[in-house]
Amino acid sequence: MNIHWADVIAQELENSGPQTIATGITPSGPVHIGNMREVMTADAVYRALKNHGVDAKLIYIADTFDRLRKLYPFLDESFKEHIGKPLSEIPCPTGCCASYADHFLLPFLASMEKLGIKPEIYRADELYKKGVYIDSIKTALAKRDNIARILKEVSGREVPETWSPFDPICQCCGRTNTTKVTGFDLENEIVDYECNCGCKGSASMSGGGKLVWRVDWPARWPIFKVTIEPFGKDHATAGGSYDTGKRISEEIYNYPAPYPIIYEWIHLKGVGAMHSSTGIAISIQDMLDVVPPEVLRYLIIRTKPEKHIDFDPAIPLITLVDEYDQRRGEENAFALSSIGDSRPFEVPYRHMVTVVQIARNDKDLLLKALQRSGYDISRKDEIFSRAQNVQNWLDRYAPSFIKFQLQNRLPSAINNLSTVERKGLGMLAERIDEKTAAEIHDEVYAISKELGLDSKKFFQAIYLAFLGDRQGPKAGWFLASLDREFVKIRLREAAT
Ligand SMILES: [Zn+2]
Ligand SMILES: [Zn+2]
Repeated sequence: MNIHWADVIAQELENSGPQTIATGITPSGPVHIGNMREVMTADAVYRALKNHGVDAKLIYIADTFDRLRKLYPFLDESFKEHIGKPLSEIPCPTGCCASYADHFLLPFLASMEKLGIKPEIYRADELYKKGVYIDSIKTALAKRDNIARILKEVSGREVPETWSPFDPICQCCGRTNTTKVTGFDLENEIVDYECNCGCKGSASMSGGGKLVWRVDWPARWPIFKVTIEPFGKDHATAGGSYDTGKRISEEIYNYPAPYPIIYEWIHLKGVGAMHSSTGIAISIQDMLDVVPPEVLRYLIIRTKPEKHIDFDPAIPLITLVDEYDQRRGEENAFALSSIGDSRPFEVPYRHMVTVVQIARNDKDLLLKALQRSGYDISRKDEIFSRAQNVQNWLDRYAPSFIKFQLQNRLPSAINNLSTVERKGLGMLAERIDEKTAAEIHDEVYAISKELGLDSKKFFQAIYLAFLGDRQGPKAGWFLASLDREFVKIRLREAAT
């Protein structure tokens, strides 16, 4: 039997005491499904540990105190002046919430909830302001030279004389990338600085600045007793921030570095790896508009973290939904993807794509079409929610050959059909009473055979009669979804 990757990790750690899995994402831009991989990977391991009877905790630290690094393509030119300031101290780019950090964090938190991920949530700016990091800052300042040596040994890069593990926020210009530490006072818990803007001052160790990333990361491990952490492969390179973090954690903070889970990127088909800074991304909300949250979980959880995911929102996406709905895959991947007591959805996504186009926003017609094609329609809310997903998918990602329009009148293109094709349509009209979708489909083949017609041609004739096009959805199920009298009349019309 295949063991799911999250269970492999759980088995490895099940006898090592309580576990805390940490995740952290910087809310510097729209959170996309690539970022979701971090929290989803963490959540899968968290659930697997729980299943193995381990006392486990899942935490999410929002890096709201990180500085704005550059003017991202989605920002107004006026945001240039905020580069270098902590995200929590910058105004919201559209004025709708309290800060820049909130603007991207709040929708992310809402998405996590929809996806059934419930970590303990911490905001870095609040942690710093509350003084949670004070001891770590003091240790880092006192052991500055040791840290600099580790950074140089591990990363191979020269560390400048003026380097400090602490970035004070300038009280004049609000930036952290323009200040230089000139001294510190451990007793009074302040750090002296000079800024390129001309200011000099003393920053408090409680919110007056933050540890630089390579020190901040290992500093949080003992604070939160982190034992497991997933992170992107950019942090996992030789000499990268996990390598330096591991030594800083062990040698400066006397704490063992957490068990690393390195995850690969999600590539958008034909475009490349998703990054919010480049605008190559599908947001989580975009995705939740077209698939149920369980399927988004499944997309990520079914693949081992170290393998990259090629994501194609066109046809492969509906194949994925059908694989999930029909539970054709690894059992534990489904268990780890489920939210609450969600049950499999019976109607294939592909068939929903057909009936949604037939019903054209008419809910009664939608239910009728499903019932005609042999599906149970008692779970109405789920059906309508799925129909909305499908409509969004048709609007945004469906290739044109999937789209069709049922013609109100017999299309004139029918004139191009041969006599024998017309005859076949007439025969079909007389043979579909009381037949199921599958039986109608078989009948199309049977008639082709009887008349010595190429079945492909005959299918084209059917599509022409109803859609005015030579292609269409699976014919038996399509015809079964329509009013039977209407189908018969149309076929007879086409035959004469
Ligand atoms: Zn906002
Ligand atoms: Zn300044």
